Amino acid sequence: MSLKTRILGLAAGLIVVASLASWLAYRELSENIIERWGQQVAEIQVRYDSARLLQSLEREIGLAKQMASSSALINWAVNPDAPALESEAIRQMESFRSNFRDNSYFVALLENGHYYYNNEKNEYAGDQFRYVLDADKPDDAWFFQLIEEGRDFHLNVNPDTELGVTKLWIDVLMRDQTGQIVGMVGTGLNLDDFLQDIVDIGQEGITTLFVDYNGAIQLYRDRNFIDFASIIKPEGQKNTVDLLFDDPQDKQQILGMLQLLKKRSDQVGQVESGFVTVDGRKHLAGVAFLPAIGWFEITLLDLNTLLPRSYLWPLVAVFLVTLLVTLLLFHLIIQSRILKPIMSLEHAVEKVREGSFDLPRLDKPDNEIGWLADHFEKMTHSLGHSTRELEAKVAQRTDELNRLARIDPLTGLKNRRGLDEVLDEEIQRARRQETGFGVIWLDIDHFKSINDTLGHQAGDQILCRVALWLKAGVRPYDHPGRWGGDEFVVLLSPCDPETLERIARRICESVAQESQKTGTPVTVSVGGYFASPGDNSDTILRHADHALYQAKREGRNRVRIGTTEDPEINPA
Ligand code: GH3
Ligand code: MG
Repeated sequence: MSLKTRILGLAAGLIVVASLASWLAYRELSENIIERWGQQVAEIQVRYDSARLLQSLEREIGLAKQMASSSALINWAVNPDAPALESEAIRQMESFRSNFRDNSYFVALLENGHYYYNNEKNEYAGDQFRYVLDADKPDDAWFFQLIEEGRDFHLNVNPDTELGVTKLWIDVLMRDQTGQIVGMVGTGLNLDDFLQDIVDIGQEGITTLFVDYNGAIQLYRDRNFIDFASIIKPEGQKNTVDLLFDDPQDKQQILGMLQLLKKRSDQVGQVESGFVTVDGRKHLAGVAFLPAIGWFEITLLDLNTLLPRSYLWPLVAVFLVTLLVTLLLFHLIIQSRILKPIMSLEHAVEKVREGSFDLPRLDKPDNEIGWLADHFEKMTHSLGHSTRELEAKVAQRTDELNRLARIDPLTGLKNRRGLDEVLDEEIQRARRQETGFGVIWLDIDHFKSINDTLGHQAGDQILCRVALWLKAGVRPYDHPGRWGGDEFVVLLSPCDPETLERIARRICESVAQESQKTGTPVTVSVGGYFASPGDNSDTILRHADHALYQAKREGRNRVRIGTTEDPEINPA
């Protein structure tokens, strides 16, 4: 896998991990924000709903309490059989009726159990006595229960089967001067109107309900859950608030909140809140205690309806776009600052590996890779320079070695290899130019005995001298050389047969004359041959050698020039 793929893969991996972490953080954060916001909204909503309920009830409760403390009614309740007191009391009741919002009232006397009632239609004018309350009738149990409990004020949601109405009843005990209970007065509010005005106000996502001191549901938009005639039901048979929740933990939580608020009932405006599940949807529940009526107000906020998570989608979109832009930028930066310079460096390394020191232009960003490329470029330059120097030195040395390999170390003349090469060149040239060239082969006479008498070193000295005289005897462009032992060969080019003979004789004579001067006279025998175009080296050398042989045979210290017609070489 290429570095580019790996880096981009790594970057993509990191970004995916970062995105995941960010997404989780975002979820956590948005949840937190929604919860905090929800809690505040729940508290505000609870206070608002409580205030609305109390506002519409306070006036009615005040009036009912005023009615319960009316002396005309109390006096009558103490003496219910006195007709004068009764008519005064009924007059008084009717005046209250016109003031109650519902334009209805009830008065129940403890003494005889008589129940008086009139409604907004003034239906029972002159006939306000409706019936006698019976302690054994379940429908009338509320009255006797409240009397027994001795609670001066009570709210009760109850259908009155006798009257055919379901109302939220406000019940207030009537007491005489000594504090004895003498009866009960109050008014009712039409439950349907009340529910519509206070509870089921059509705000989507907000559910309001009221429960009594024991947690029994009193006001709720679904009438099936309302715990009618709560007061007379034994514990365990009441429709309590926990019926709304499926999760036992939620039930516990809500009941716990009610307990806590009861304990803190002296602290006005306390609100408790927490998350619960209602109908499979997550809700935030806000609970407050209303000491004025002894009820709890519960507000359930459906957070998904009030603040759907889709509100936050633009945020997610911005996040995703930012991620993509980051990835793109990352790609571009990696490409231009790392990958491209590395690839250009790799290309340069490849060229150097192939032996070329001519580098292409390197991509050198101002970072570690750029500095590395710069170092590499300088290193390659100096490597190229020293390689060229080394190559020049090697070539020079090779030339020197080649030259030395063709030189006779003793005399400094060409050796046999050198002579062979020049001979080949001359044969080629002769063929090309159709001209001949001369070859001289000479051998020192009786050299063995010189060696034997004067010693090997003296012999060497004589070899050197002969070489010097030989060199002096030929033209600058001729090629004198030592064939081996005491034998020398000279190639004369350009040349003609006359020049060949003249130079051969000159050599022979000069050796004899010059050696005289040294005190050790030596002579040479010389064989010559004029090579024609087409002669090969073997023929040429054989003829020259043969001529030398003849010179030796004829008494030495002389010159013989061989010819192609020489019968001893060409016996045929
Ligand atoms: P000829 O007249 O027939 O040539 O007689 P010669 O004694 O010269 O016989 P030949 O040419 O066969 O002998 C060559 C001698 O040269 C034999 C050998 O000892 C001697 N020699 C060969 N190379 C060297 C050398 O490098 N230095 C010395 N001092 N002697 C050499
Ligand atoms: Mg010899």
